[in-house]
Amino acid sequence: MSISENIKHILSELPANVRLVAVSKTKPCEDILEAYNGGQRIFGENKVQEMTTKQEQLPSDIEWHMIGHLQTNKVKYIAPYVSLIHSVDSLHLLEAINKEAMKHNRIIDCLLQIHIATEETKFGFDDTELNQALSSPEFAELKNVRIVGLMGMATNTDDTIKIHHEFGHLHQLFQDIKKAYYPESGYFKELSMGMSGDYKIAIEEGSTLVRIGSAIFGARNYPLH
Ligand SMILES: *Cc1c(COP(=O)(O)O)cnc(C)c1O
Repeated sequence: MSISENIKHILSELPANVRLVAVSKTKPCEDILEAYNGGQRIFGENKVQEMTTKQEQLPSDIEWHMIGHLQTNKVKYIAPYVSLIHSVDSLHLLEAINKEAMKHNRIIDCLLQIHIATEETKFGFDDTELNQALSSPEFAELKNVRIVGLMGMATNTDDTIKIHHEFGHLHQLFQDIKKAYYPESGYFKELSMGMSGDYKIAIEEGSTLVRIGSAIFGARNYPLH
């Protein structure tokens, strides 16, 4: 199937409250344009330089989402245009984003990445660190970032019960955090979870943003590392 047929198929499976982030990392601009011409507007990338090069070349109404691990010294390159950062994994990074957002006189929407998988390589806050960060005086000072929800990646496994459990935990944490810190907020509403292999489970567990790459664009063009 073509890229636009893959997108159409996936969209037909998504409930109305779930948005699709088309993960275009390693893929050329022509693939992104094919998706764009089929109506897709949200694209996810995991590397700053790659995303910025594509942003400069592609239509300006694309919403660029950073989904990969972000280094503080690279925030400045995406601060002018990024529409959502999914992968905020420390207060230190959030402070760097806030500083760069201020320079551009904008408020950058962010998700806090939560470590839900058993794999040790994954980045993210644990539940305790998350509560510490959100209740800290440093966090209260940050006026140019807005936390609109949480993000997480499940363990890469065929064990669907385990995946349900991890996403279910993230949904519960989302509800607890909303109640404790954002009870009146209309904007704290996003739960970014689900990739090509597990997005159906993620949707059953309450995802509002699925990040799908290979099921749209095919296998990645070159090894990531
Ligand atoms: C690459 C990536 C995805 C998409 O993975 P697929 O399995 O190709 O759908 C989603 N989220 C993150 C954080 C990624 O790095």
